[in-house]
Amino acid sequence: MYTNDFDYYRADSVGEAVELLGDHDGAELVAGAHGLLPRMKTGDESPPALVDIGQLNGLDAIESSDGGSISVGALATHAEIADSEIVREHAAALADAASELGDPPVRNGGTIGGNLAHGDPRSDPPAALLALEGSLEVRGSDGERTIDAAELFEGPFETAVADDEIVTAVRIPTDDDAVSGYRKRRDPLSGYAMVGVGVWLRTDDETIEAARVAVTGATTTPARLSGVEDELEGSAVSEETITAAAAEAGTALDADAFVSDVQASAEYREHLLTIDTERALYDVLDVGQ
Ligand SMILES: Cc1cc2nc3c(=O)[nH]c(=O)nc-3n(C[C@H](O)[C@H](O)[C@H](O)COP(=O)(O)OP(=O)(O)OC[C@H]3O[C@@H](n4cnc5c(N)ncnc54)[C@H](O)[C@@H]3O)c2cc1C
Repeated sequence: MYTNDFDYYRADSVGEAVELLGDHDGAELVAGAHGLLPRMKTGDESPPALVDIGQLNGLDAIESSDGGSISVGALATHAEIADSEIVREHAAALADAASELGDPPVRNGGTIGGNLAHGDPRSDPPAALLALEGSLEVRGSDGERTIDAAELFEGPFETAVADDEIVTAVRIPTDDDAVSGYRKRRDPLSGYAMVGVGVWLRTDDETIEAARVAVTGATTTPARLSGVEDELEGSAVSEETITAAAAEAGTALDADAFVSDVQASAEYREHLLTIDTERALYDVLDVGQ
């Protein structure tokens, strides 16, 4: 299949990219093209113009700051994130999601900014971002702003990143007493997440002091699992806690929140979510199994 005809512009700076977006109605950014191009080939998207930011300098840095956070440049590829010692140490859930994503060509070409801005509900990084309570730094014609993960995902292929905005970085708060991880069940056809669970926990080894758990893939929009979080917080670090918390995986979600398609019904996805939430918790907690 072929894409529609489109005009092509290459931006040499973030400012120029913002200007180009403003000058060309309906124009879309393109970074790695691994999210946009497949959808242009199927006709799901047909932008009249593309603004290429893939070659911009300085947008791929991964750094830790003194203020208790790490910054991942929007053009950092999934492979760079998977291999980053900084991300592995401070945001293991994001490193897990990046290393589980797609195949080597996709991980080497696709970028974190493109992934999160696109809002594909089957994507891996959103569950990690939600569990880590990260945020996006964006720049548009009205200047810079921050979008918290909780505000980002608005629906399938709909995010709070405006048409004239560029994601410049992903910021993740760090906590030396916390652990995190991401567990993926691959869709056998596409390799995307059929169910993906991101987990962030702070414990004193005996009690779970704070918990953040999020799902992607199983639901039409990535979401926090507040039923699981409520069950975990204040509970002992134990197998019983994990079982009880995982049983709450679907409880705080709307009945129509689950995806139903030829691969799995909504009911089956909800069932898998309980299993994968339990596994994700075992992955990060030092108990049993
Ligand atoms: C074969 C295949 C398998 C895949 N498997 C998976 C998988 O298992 N898990 C998964 O999560 N993903 C998967 N993907 C999707 C893909 O890797 C990501 O969506 C991709 O990383 C998006 O990044 P990109 O740089 O390629 O974005 P692009 O395709 O260039 O852009 C995607 C969208 O984001 C916008 N955009 C890009 N960069 C920015 C920015 N900095 N600021 C604002 N908007 C921006 C574009 O305008 C566009 O709308 C797969 C893709 C392919 C082709």
